[in-house]
Amino acid sequence: MPAPSDIQNVVDGRAAPAAGGERFEKRRPADGSLLCTVARSGAADVAAAVAAAGRAQPAWAARTPVERGEVVREIALALRARREEAAAIVSEETGKSMELALGEADAAVEMGFFVAGEGRRLYGRTTTSAMPNRTVTATRRPVGVAALIVSFNTPLPNYAWKAFPAVFCGNAAVLKPSEHTPASALFFGELCHEAGLPAGVLNVVQGFGSEAGPPLVESPDVDLVSFTGSAATGRWINERAGGRLAKVCLELGGKNALVVCDDADLDRAVDWSLASAFSNAGQRCAAASRLVVFDTVYEEFRDRLVAGARAYETGPVISERSLDRILALLDGARVATGGERLDRAGWWLAPTVVEDVPAGDNLSSNELFGPVTILYRVRDLEEAIALVNDSPYGLTSAIHTASLHRAMHFAETVQAGVVVVNGGTHGSEPHMGFGGVKQSGTGWREAGVEALDVYTDWKYVNLIADPAKA
Ligand code: NAD
Repeated sequence: MPAPSDIQNVVDGRAAPAAGGERFEKRRPADGSLLCTVARSGAADVAAAVAAAGRAQPAWAARTPVERGEVVREIALALRARREEAAAIVSEETGKSMELALGEADAAVEMGFFVAGEGRRLYGRTTTSAMPNRTVTATRRPVGVAALIVSFNTPLPNYAWKAFPAVFCGNAAVLKPSEHTPASALFFGELCHEAGLPAGVLNVVQGFGSEAGPPLVESPDVDLVSFTGSAATGRWINERAGGRLAKVCLELGGKNALVVCDDADLDRAVDWSLASAFSNAGQRCAAASRLVVFDTVYEEFRDRLVAGARAYETGPVISERSLDRILALLDGARVATGGERLDRAGWWLAPTVVEDVPAGDNLSSNELFGPVTILYRVRDLEEAIALVNDSPYGLTSAIHTASLHRAMHFAETVQAGVVVVNGGTHGSEPHMGFGGVKQSGTGWREAGVEALDVYTDWKYVNLIADPAKA
């Protein structure tokens, strides 16, 4: 079934237009044609969604974790049953291939199954006390109403990574998807209700970040803001939500490096570099946007990489604005291949390899979020590690080497939340925590049982068994 031509919010389990009746146009990145109109939400819509979440949360939190996990499992099963439909919507609104979109639908399903299993594993702790006759239990409690604000790049996993643990933990939520992916967000919100999530537990507010975002972040009735997006937006959210002492979880950008040593298997290193740099048109927080190559193999690696980049089939970037921004940043750079718009409708940038960029340059330190990677030449591992760590970000990293010692030394010293040896810079699986250091985040980890720390607070209960002895 194609996405509806007019995309609305989901508030209290029902589709709702923006209160002011305003809409904006969403275009297909693959050819620039009109896909749909979308509710252009503002403060009144956010207030209605937050109020619905506040009303729904206590009864939802009163259900047992096992019951809440069962609902998440039903949602995951429903998504699996409709994976083709979900992927078709994502493919249309982002321009990515069906193959990629199907993989993302499956990743979202797997996240649902993982979170659902936590229903029978939501372990707390018990401990003794310095005082006799006393036992202390620590249990996880929901935070309350959660704002879930996400990026456009992998919409279904982005919703799943936040919404599944958030509602499983007994919170109610307001999901603010990217303005670039409204159709998948509506699909996801409606699917959750059809699969048994009570009305109001997950609300969806469409709209521009600058209009629908601030009232959500600043609402005194939102207890937790969980954000995935750029460092610039994250910094603003941290200031505003942190200023009113809300709990804030930020998963931000990366300028991820892949190191190729002189003992690397070059065929594999090239293949992983191409996939890491250019899959999803480079619009991955974990994209390898810096390739750090030992001097002795530099030319050979570059030639093979450039040949691979020329043959690489990538998708369009998400918007004309994004394409123009990347092209402007590339202006004046020494481009080994790519660097130009493809001659077709839509927002296509040729896979691009850049050379001779100084480490402190704008291009070296800013995340481009497109199919662009920079090649650096280094003498040895120490120089490589120093270059990799000379970045404001620290999300993922990779090294290609046959040496266990080099791999372990890199893993020890690289400033990143994820290290991969002899593979790509990639994200996470549902049971693994994911997140970065420095400006890639504020120390939280999503996915895995680590996500439970984002969506719960610990409560400590002191039990005195025999008051006469206390
Ligand atoms: P963005 O920061 O422009 O937008 C992210 C979300 O925030 C969108 O929903 C947007 O509408 C909203 N938003 C914008 N301004 C806001 C405001 N003032 N208040 C509240 N919400 C606001 O980022 P993007 O372009 O959608 O995504 C790309 C970024 O996301 C990259 O930096 C990428 O690395 C990052 N990302 C990180 C991870 C991770 O897990 N670390 C995963 C995916 C993407």
